[in-house]
Amino acid sequence: MLLFGIFDTLMFQYCSISFAALSIAFLAQLKAAHFYYKKGERKMKRILTLLLSMTMLFTCVAALPATTKAATKPVPTSITSLTPNVKGFKVKWKKKSVSGYQLQVSTNSKFKKAKKITIKKATTTSKKVTGLSAKKRYYVRVRTFKTKNSKAVYSKWSKSKSVVTKAEPQKKTNQGVYITPTGKKYHFSKDCAGPNAIPISLSDAQKRYEPCKKCANG
Ligand SMILES: [Zn+2]
Repeated sequence: MLLFGIFDTLMFQYCSISFAALSIAFLAQLKAAHFYYKKGERKMKRILTLLLSMTMLFTCVAALPATTKAATKPVPTSITSLTPNVKGFKVKWKKKSVSGYQLQVSTNSKFKKAKKITIKKATTTSKKVTGLSAKKRYYVRVRTFKTKNSKAVYSKWSKSKSVVTKAEPQKKTNQGVYITPTGKKYHFSKDCAGPNAIPISLSDAQKRYEPCKKCANG
């Protein structure tokens, strides 16, 4: 990648020098053409030389921005996996020879009001995103960047992927269950406990009763 940077600089210098040289040549040819036009001598040859210098000049000017742009934009990456968690997810992407990665997370597929996460390490290829809402769809995309003269140059974004975050697990210790006056089991389902169901907290029920095989994972 360093080689690419050197090539880029050389190309820029080459084009700058060429541009200056051709500008001088162009002006000289213009002056000469005018002179020979007056004299009526070797007019066509001079005009052809003039046209050739102009062509070379414009070719060089046109090639310059394309060359520098193509060489500085880093290679893009792609998402390899996206796993949902409660109120978050884990995303993995392909490793590239770059300075780092940037993630975008949004509830909108067009990434409006997206949250940005920057990873300043080329070897880090996964991120656990937390603090989101449960049971909600999130869109994710990633791009690479290269730092050049302390300025980040970004690749194009990867294809986006979406994930639905998991629901929060129920806190079973505070859950209400049902027992019956004669039974030895506790039930999550009131219907399963029957017409004599008595509500009781799960923690209390667990001290004296067994879970029902049908409704309480017994
Ligand atoms: Zn039951």
